[in-house]
Amino acid sequence: MRVTIFGTGYVGLVTGTCLAEVGHDVVCVDIDAAKVEGLNNGIIPIYEPGLEPMVKANHAAGRLNFTTDAARAIQHGNTIFIAVGTPPDEDGSADLKYVLAVARTIGQNLSRPAVIVDKSTVPVGTADKVRAVIAAELAARGENIEFDVASNPEFLKEGDAVNDCMRPDRIVIGAGNPASIEQLKRLYAPFNRNHERIVAMDVRSAELTKYAANAMLATKISFMNEMANIAERVGADIEHVRHGIGSDPRIGYSFIYPGAGYGGSCFPKDVQALERTARQHGYVAQILEAVEAVNGRQKHRLFELMMDHYEGDLAGKTVAVWGLAFKPNTDDMREASSRTLLARLWEAGARVRAYDPEARDEARRIFGERDDLLLCDTARQALEGAHALAVVTEWKQFRSPDFNRLEATLADKVIFDGRNLYEPHEVEQSGLAYYGIGRGRSV
Ligand code: NAD
Repeated sequence: MRVTIFGTGYVGLVTGTCLAEVGHDVVCVDIDAAKVEGLNNGIIPIYEPGLEPMVKANHAAGRLNFTTDAARAIQHGNTIFIAVGTPPDEDGSADLKYVLAVARTIGQNLSRPAVIVDKSTVPVGTADKVRAVIAAELAARGENIEFDVASNPEFLKEGDAVNDCMRPDRIVIGAGNPASIEQLKRLYAPFNRNHERIVAMDVRSAELTKYAANAMLATKISFMNEMANIAERVGADIEHVRHGIGSDPRIGYSFIYPGAGYGGSCFPKDVQALERTARQHGYVAQILEAVEAVNGRQKHRLFELMMDHYEGDLAGKTVAVWGLAFKPNTDDMREASSRTLLARLWEAGARVRAYDPEARDEARRIFGERDDLLLCDTARQALEGAHALAVVTEWKQFRSPDFNRLEATLADKVIFDGRNLYEPHEVEQSGLAYYGIGRGRSV
């Protein structure tokens, strides 16, 4: 089938590539000319495991093309995805300017019937707005071309996006018109062979499903951080508590890790946007407000532990930071907890030697050159001349360091573990002081 995708970010590029991989004829369009030129020359703008060879193979096979020419791209597809960004507005609502700009472009260029599909995460009611914008543009041209607007929210996880896209848990399709649902079912048929993954529903329910999923996941994290903060105060270890509750199948083990707070481009903005949507409809979403507030506080927790250890004086200290990305297997640093930690460390007069396996370029882009930041090539290099180590992202390679070597290297012999990767007793046996999240001890 012929598919057009607006946006070649994490969602658009991965979706386009996976659709091409199963044989569809895909054109991806972006307004970022440098990105498009790079993609046409085999330069992949993001790090995502498995993506690069797949883009190159499908591009070479002619099934995956990149362009800035929106009019040509719209001619191509009878399914047109909108996968552009929906960043937070000033008040935290989702800013729809990119989505509606694409809708206008579609209305100005549509020349034959198509199903327009919102894949971006958009507030309930957005499909109606997209429909109205396209209809107005068509009317202005005196055209009466049949089109429908459907919702197909994306659930891929950065760091495992290709896998999620090729083997989705579910494919949510929201459309009022049965023909649109059928068209999308045909498009996704290659991903739906072993068992039924398609969940079809009305448009508004599909739009809300995406927010409900992210809000639930963010709630689990903030809940565990709340428990961790209580555990610290009452002399309990949250890691024992985690195992104790996860063994209940009604609760389960996934997504109940305490830590230095959630980040990324989705949870923070989606929780906020859903909370604003509720408010616009006269409802105060108290759970969502609390989820956001707990997370905002949690991002400062590692720094607070450091300040306590150093009795309020971090000036002149050098801190090795392992992990800058908001989670492992990505270079994405949007809303990452590391950014809060670094800002607080610099404010307190400390210097940072940071290492992340993938986010170094992104960190350089964000922070520029500064005297109090050295972006290192290896985890070991980050430790050289450091007083303390802070672990912020749970990359696999940070899981089993040689604690004796750390003891010999770190001048102040102390580790702040923002992801509870280590066993306190094991670390302490090597002569290091250890601070984790929610790891109170009974006396
Ligand atoms: P992104 O910022 O990585 O990419 C967006 C792309 O859209 C950019 O390349 C930008 O240049 C392009 N763009 C903007 N305006 C355009 C236009 N008029 N025409 C063509 N291209 C245009 O964003 P992303 O992370 O891929 O997210 C896209 C949407 O998907 C958001 O709504 C996000 O909430 C949602 N989402 C993201 C993830 C994720 O893990 N990143 C997961 C699920 C859903």
